Amino acid sequence: MIAIPPPLRLRLDSAALVANWRWLAALSGPAACGAAIKADGYGLGACEVLALLAAAGCRDFFVAHWSEAAALMPLPTGVALSVLHGVGESDMVAARMLPARPVLNSVEQVRRWREAGEGQLCDVMVDTGMNRLGLRVEEALGGALDGLMIETLHSHLASADEDSDQNARQLAAFRTLRERIPARRYSLANSAGICLGADYVFDLTRPGIALYGGIPRVEAAEQIRQVVFPEARILQVRSVAAGESVGYGATWTAPRDSRIAVANLGYADGYLRCHAGRGGATWQGRRLPLVGRVSMDLTAFDVSAVDGLDEGDWVAIDYDLAETAARTGLSQYELLTGLGRRFGR
Ligand SMILES: *Cc1c(COP(=O)(O)O)cnc(C)c1O
Repeated sequence: MIAIPPPLRLRLDSAALVANWRWLAALSGPAACGAAIKADGYGLGACEVLALLAAAGCRDFFVAHWSEAAALMPLPTGVALSVLHGVGESDMVAARMLPARPVLNSVEQVRRWREAGEGQLCDVMVDTGMNRLGLRVEEALGGALDGLMIETLHSHLASADEDSDQNARQLAAFRTLRERIPARRYSLANSAGICLGADYVFDLTRPGIALYGGIPRVEAAEQIRQVVFPEARILQVRSVAAGESVGYGATWTAPRDSRIAVANLGYADGYLRCHAGRGGATWQGRRLPLVGRVSMDLTAFDVSAVDGLDEGDWVAIDYDLAETAARTGLSQYELLTGLGRRFGR
C-alpha cells in the first residue's frame, strides 16, 4: 500500500511536551512524576509520547485498557506500565502475558488477581469519594487487601481543578489509607492535583492533560506550553459577492465582496460544530475568521484581508486549549481526545 499524506495534520511540539513534563516533575518535588498516556496519549500518539518522555526520564506510565498496553510493547528498559481499568475476566490472558501491572479496582478484581497467581506485584485503586473506580475505603481497611503485594496504592481526586472542600477530605482519607495499607508507593495527584501543593504528591504523580498543553488550574497557565497544533490544507479559494451566503443553513452572509478559503477539516475530524461563530485560523501570522457552519469534512474561513493565500496552503487552526475550551464549551480533554484519525500525526 502506498502512503498518501492526508490534507490535515497535527503538528506536535515535542520540546513543549518534554518541558511540560519537566515542569510537572519539578512541582512534584521528591515524588516521581509519571504520565497518563491512555486514549492514545490523549490523541497525540501514545507510542511517541512514551518514547519522548521515557527518554526525558519518566518511568511510570498509565493506560486504561490492556489493548492499549499491548500496542506499546516492547517497553523501553526501566519503564513500568500500569493498566488503570484493572482485570476483568477477559483480561487475564493479557495480564499474564504482558509486562504491565493491573490497577485493581474492586474486591472482585483482587480475588481474580489472587487466584491467578500470588506474589505478583499489582497496583490498587481505592476510592476516596469520587465513586468511579476503586475499592471502598471500608473494604480496603477491612482486610480485602491483606497480604497482597502492592507496588502502588492509588486514589484519584474528583475536584482537583476546583477549590473544593472535597480535595482536603480525599487527602485525609488517603493519608489514613497510607498509614494502614502497606505498599511500596502511594499516588494521588493528577495534573490538577500536582498544582494543589506538596501535600498531594506523595511518592508518584500521574499527570495527563497538562503534559499535552491543558491548563489544569490557573496557577499553571504561565508554565504550561501548547503542544498540539492542528493544521489543515486549503482545498479551494473562492470569491463570494456581498449578500451571498456560505455553507449549510446559510448562517453567514458576506457583508462585502469577500474571498473565502475552504479547508480540509470538519466535524468528522473532531473539529465540532461548536467552533462556528468564534473559531478561526492563522496563516503567516494573520487571522482568518471561521465563517458559516462546520461541515463534516470542510470548514470555511474569511481570507479577504489576506493576500497570497491559495489552494494547497496550510493554515494553523486556533487551538489554544484553555481559550478554545472557554469559547466552545468543550473540555480541554475533549478537544484533544476528539481529534480524529484522519490527522497525520
Ligand atoms: C486520566 C487519569 C489521570 C490523569 O489525569 P489528568 O487530569 O489528565 O492529569 C490520572 N489518574 C487517573 C486514575 C486517571 O484516570
